[in-house]
Amino acid sequence: MTETIAGYMHNFVELFLPRLCACCGQVLLSAESIVCTSCQYYLPYTDFHLHEDNLLERQFRGRVKTVGASSCFYYQPKSGIGKLIHALKYADRPQIGRWLGCECSKRMPLNCKIDCPDIIIPVPLHQSRQAKRGYNQSEQIAIGIAKNTGIPLNGKVLRRVYATTSQTGMHSRFSRHENVKSSFEITNPEIIKNKHLLLVDDVITTGATIEACAMALSAVEGVRISILSAAHTF
Ligand SMILES: [Zn+2]
Repeated sequence: MTETIAGYMHNFVELFLPRLCACCGQVLLSAESIVCTSCQYYLPYTDFHLHEDNLLERQFRGRVKTVGASSCFYYQPKSGIGKLIHALKYADRPQIGRWLGCECSKRMPLNCKIDCPDIIIPVPLHQSRQAKRGYNQSEQIAIGIAKNTGIPLNGKVLRRVYATTSQTGMHSRFSRHENVKSSFEITNPEIIKNKHLLLVDDVITTGATIEACAMALSAVEGVRISILSAAHTF
């Protein structure tokens, strides 16, 4: 009875404040969250998690030694996934990050099913950018992954030291790489010593940011790294 009343009240409130699909703007059904069933069906899932030696793992070969790497979606700026990422970063919608994290958690890198990560580490923002945005979008994705996998999250052990300039307009891989190189430091090496870390990012483009994070993390004894991003630009 109580549930019926709660459900009735929920529907009543939605009459005035309908929840809308973040992709198409249609009103969501009560069982839907963030994205309507139709839009979710057409999201470009990569299925990288089903393949060892997938495109992302090949991209990092020779640059970052990984246990495994995966991206949940192909990034297309004007598509549904483009709208989700844009709203997550620029429209104060941190809950989209947690929804993306939930989708990512079902698509962990293949080798992580055998060698499970011990700690989830989001790619950090510099504190000035995080203060401006109000949250770190990668950390919101990491929260969604942590909630669904039970793997603990640590958003403090990796710190962004320099506020890098925006990468927009930096076309060459070299200039992007130089922009982020040595931008990260470890605050407490003991926490990650001998641990398998799952490094989480929103969108991977050149991989320079992930590479710089991995460089800092790998300096700690016994660290192994896996990579998981919500989206990847190819
Ligand atoms: Zn929709």
